[in-house]
Amino acid sequence: MEAPRVVALTNGAFAENCYLVADPERGDAIIIDPGEEAELFLARLRHEGWTLRAVWLTHAHLDHVAGVAAVKAATGAPVYLHPADRPLYDSVPAQAQLFGLRAEPPPPPDRDLADGQSVSVGGCGFAVLHTPGHTAGGVTFAGHGLAFVGDALFAGSIGRTDLVGGDTDTLLASIREKLYALPNETVVYSGHGPETTIGAEKQSNPFARLVPGINACLKCGAEVRPKPWGCKNPCANCGFVYPLGDCSD
Ligand SMILES: [Zn+2]
Ligand SMILES: [Zn+2]
Ligand SMILES: [Zn+2]
Repeated sequence: MEAPRVVALTNGAFAENCYLVADPERGDAIIIDPGEEAELFLARLRHEGWTLRAVWLTHAHLDHVAGVAAVKAATGAPVYLHPADRPLYDSVPAQAQLFGLRAEPPPPPDRDLADGQSVSVGGCGFAVLHTPGHTAGGVTFAGHGLAFVGDALFAGSIGRTDLVGGDTDTLLASIREKLYALPNETVVYSGHGPETTIGAEKQSNPFARLVPGINACLKCGAEVRPKPWGCKNPCANCGFVYPLGDCSD
């Protein structure tokens, strides 16, 4: 099977990254986080000749859902949202008012997303990871060496946690336990800014850094705690046994 194709469409007042993901063999596509410029997304779908099968939402902030109504009206594609973000989703008109904008309420979601669920576009499956902290119902779609993380993780930064449903400890746990458990070469597509990789962020993200041998497994790079994780405490992620541990533990 061919790898899925990804088209990034940066749009709107918040420079939000909307993504089209397609199974190029079948011509099936989904859209992740249709923000303000729905016409741009629909035009690109037509240009590629793809059929939209679903709308996947990483979270329900205005800049990620402003185009849901128009995209659904044009394509009939069902909308997928984690239920913990439903209150936020229903407050889209109020979110818009905060910025002096107007927005209609989006159509109710058709499907609930849940941690560990799998969703697919054509023949390409993706795992749903619940990654709260930026919002309560934030999710990541991971598969085929790709991760669509919404506003949980950015190149060199993390999502803000001062908005409704935000919590810094929760966000850092999501990043360290869920996102950093993905292979280092995984390409990260964020809700704003350029793409990055899991390995690059583990090494250099100033907010969520993991140092192998200090707080991360030497083999797989996953966070290891508490210290010491000596020779009788293999890494919970990959089973690697730290060679220099205190053998008395
Ligand atoms: Zn957001
Ligand atoms: Zn955003
Ligand atoms: Zn490990």
